[in-house]
Amino acid sequence: MSSDPAVILKPGKAKALQNRHPWVFSGAVAAWPESAEAGGLVQVLSHDGRFLGRGYLNRRSQISVRILTFDPQEAIDPDFWLNRLDRAAALRQDITATSKTDMLRLIHAEGDGLPGLIVDRYGDWLAVQFLTLGMDSRKALLTELLDRRFQPAGIWERSDTDVRRLEGLRSESGLLSGEPPPERLVLQEEGIRFAVDIRKGHKTGFYLDQRENRLKAKRWFHSLGEGRLLNAFSYTGAFGICALTAGLSHVTQIDSSAAALELASENARINGFDPESRTTAVSGDVFQVLRTFRDERRRFDAVVLDPPKLASNRGQIIPASRGYKDLNLLAMQLLRPGGLLVTFSCSGLIGPDLFQKILFAAALDAKRSVQILDWLNQGPDHPVPLYFPEAHYLKGFVCRVN
Ligand code: SAH
Repeated sequence: MSSDPAVILKPGKAKALQNRHPWVFSGAVAAWPESAEAGGLVQVLSHDGRFLGRGYLNRRSQISVRILTFDPQEAIDPDFWLNRLDRAAALRQDITATSKTDMLRLIHAEGDGLPGLIVDRYGDWLAVQFLTLGMDSRKALLTELLDRRFQPAGIWERSDTDVRRLEGLRSESGLLSGEPPPERLVLQEEGIRFAVDIRKGHKTGFYLDQRENRLKAKRWFHSLGEGRLLNAFSYTGAFGICALTAGLSHVTQIDSSAAALELASENARINGFDPESRTTAVSGDVFQVLRTFRDERRRFDAVVLDPPKLASNRGQIIPASRGYKDLNLLAMQLLRPGGLLVTFSCSGLIGPDLFQKILFAAALDAKRSVQILDWLNQGPDHPVPLYFPEAHYLKGFVCRVN
């Protein structure tokens, strides 16, 4: 029914799309259409001519087609995009019914059937990332639809991320529509206030994926009653502020970014905690700082480890596993008996099973008996389609280190 140019797959390569996985790798393609433009719509057919899906093309990327629909009858017109926005918005309505927050991921790319598009809500503003050529070339349309659907005060682009290079795109950021956001927005999440820098902060300004985990961590910190937290890879100190709110007496925030640590002090202040007496900011490399602390025989009642992604490709899985093991071993050595370890990996390539094995190896070396108390994941505004398990990247454990 479609007149979109056809991408024809090699024999035996239809399975992934039949299983509704939304990526077509260049190696699976037998024949490319002559007329298709970069970023334009194509239909993907099996070698014997069966319709498999419709999506957008980028021959410069290893992921040459990203599928938008598996339904042969569904056209990719403005209604299509609006329907997807509506579907994503309905899910978030359910989430905000149980969660008190001004900040939320509205569109999570493949997780919401919109590969290459990230939209985050920060109060009255939206922060947007166009990660693929297909989405980038629809920027004007999507901005207009986002304006219409969500009526924000302004839409700010944060397409300043390395993954765009894989698509042949440059970094871009700035105002797309409405009013520019203030340099610091003060927003609330579950009763805690956070200063967020949408323009220059990491990702689109805040680690929204950790919202549920901050809430859970707060409960576990509360169970300690009092004590000192070491918050490693603290960024703007969010887990640390949760710990102070839960009644811990002191937080040591460690990060390599001085700007993040400054914002962490501000975050303590705006929640009524004196950053001078209740926090210590350590600017440096966590691996080195933890070693120094261990050699100085320092002890903490709780440790949070939330490192950046250590494995970006398969070749990095082994060195990254070593990195995670070192970090967790050091953290266990720094904990007093009965202390709490809240530890994360946001590397999609390191699954929960492997991460648990890494913790096992760290515990053996530390000669500590460790119990898992809680399993943590990215929040429900970062949904994972069963057809696309790669969307599950953030996992963590709350452990008691005896
Ligand atoms: N826990 C934070 C998010 C952490 S993101 C939150 O909940 O908001 C990872 C942080 O680690 C970033 O702030 C980055 O600046 C910092 N970082 C990356 N590598 C580091 C290193 N080797 N030593 C110290 N900090 C590092």
